[in-house]
Amino acid sequence: MDFTITTPLYYVNDKPHLGSTYTTIACDAIARFHRLEGDNVIFITGVDEHGQKIERSAKKSNKSPQEYCDSITQSYLNLWDRWSITYDSFIRTTSTHHCSLVYEFYQRVSESGDIYLGKQQGWYCVGCEEYKDEGPNEISPSCPIHKTNLEWRNEENLFFRLSKYQKQIEEIVSRPGFIRPQSRRKEINNFVSQGLKDFSISRVNLEWGLPVPGYTGHTFYVWFDALLGYLSALNRNTLPVDLNQLKDKGWPTNVHVIGKDILRFHSVYWPAMLLSAGLDLPNSIFGHGFLTREGQKMGKTIGNILDPLELLNDYGADPIRWYLLKDIEFGVDGDFQQNRFKDLINNDLANTIGNLVNRTTTMSRKWFNNAVPTFTMNSEDTSQLCTDCLATIKCVREAMYDYDLKKSSTAILELAVKSNAFLSASEPWTRIKDIMNKELVAYELYSVLESIRIIGFLLLPLLPDLGMKILNQLGITSIPITWKNNLKWGLLAKGSLLPSPNPIFNKIL
Ligand SMILES: [Zn+2]
Repeated sequence: MDFTITTPLYYVNDKPHLGSTYTTIACDAIARFHRLEGDNVIFITGVDEHGQKIERSAKKSNKSPQEYCDSITQSYLNLWDRWSITYDSFIRTTSTHHCSLVYEFYQRVSESGDIYLGKQQGWYCVGCEEYKDEGPNEISPSCPIHKTNLEWRNEENLFFRLSKYQKQIEEIVSRPGFIRPQSRRKEINNFVSQGLKDFSISRVNLEWGLPVPGYTGHTFYVWFDALLGYLSALNRNTLPVDLNQLKDKGWPTNVHVIGKDILRFHSVYWPAMLLSAGLDLPNSIFGHGFLTREGQKMGKTIGNILDPLELLNDYGADPIRWYLLKDIEFGVDGDFQQNRFKDLINNDLANTIGNLVNRTTTMSRKWFNNAVPTFTMNSEDTSQLCTDCLATIKCVREAMYDYDLKKSSTAILELAVKSNAFLSASEPWTRIKDIMNKELVAYELYSVLESIRIIGFLLLPLLPDLGMKILNQLGITSIPITWKNNLKWGLLAKGSLLPSPNPIFNKIL
């Protein structure tokens, strides 16, 4: 099956921050999961490179807009490389094949009679790149988000007939599972029920954008440019995508993962544009929450921005991934707290999982000739640990299909907790003193090693490095492309050699 997933196309106004890293890591975990499930995954990310803010930022740094985009885009590429993000397609909205797709899409929407020339006036925030609701009599209003003065604009723009799609959009946004998590649906339903207004798709005072064919001086406005990147990204080479053959390229996407601030554009504007162009709609839109730091919004003025590259250098990818994916419920706001981060990582990864792997492999090596124990007891296991493992596999898979990363990570951790408890209860270190117990100890240690193997596999999408290190400690060095044949009980080869113990995770200080 095809599985297509997208991050937003990040705006290259500034270097990447933790928010975009969070979204990308979450999508990476979901993409890795679907690959292991055997799906043909198309994981799309990219950058939105047009707009006034970029034009102005480029000017400030004495660069041409293209040079400016090139350098910021490169920092995204470098960052995803450092974080081992497994995207399949990276789209830049300044690429030529994207431009030709925008024209083709525009052509279709024009032919549907959905484009007209109209007047747009109001207070405009360049930071948000949108008109605000403040009335014309307002004296120097400012943007509540950017705290900068709004600019009065009065210009002729091209409009898209969103109002024509009122009925269809009402039906689409109320489809179960279209807007996720469920809690975000109400906001959109309210917005739609107030009556959809046509929106402008061009700007006249903006040079750094794609020119609108037939309208000198007009360039396409962000949404009629950036959103289409999801389509142009479907070709992994530089040829334009044929809109008639999107199905073969993985469209529609299974999910657009976005920040909650751009939910309206993705769940209302975008479906209407696609309907107008006669194209299929995305299956779902997932709006995740925002990250704060120690309870405070991150921002330049407060100077509390967490740099994703610094975090990576300080702690490595797995601890940050674990914190973001396990501690924060995907879909709601999250807070990065330094102390909580250290406690969580040391407890979960070093104490619970790390110790489990270390002590079990050490005991097996010591008492069973550096190997996985062998025994003659019935290996058709009915132990509680086997039942727990099978239940965990089911729970993790279901949760991942549901984009519930927290539930999935928590279930894996619980299996490690249960495995530790199993060891404490069976006390192999006491039992082994009596030679008569050797068979039983072998059987019990084997059960725990099996549980560790399953933990290692289940961690691969979430913590690819740690998952691999765990499997390595069991002597498993090559990972199959799909995991279906590995998520079963009793597959660890009895008597196979266990490598010298190597701590899989060191506590962070
Ligand atoms: Zn603003």
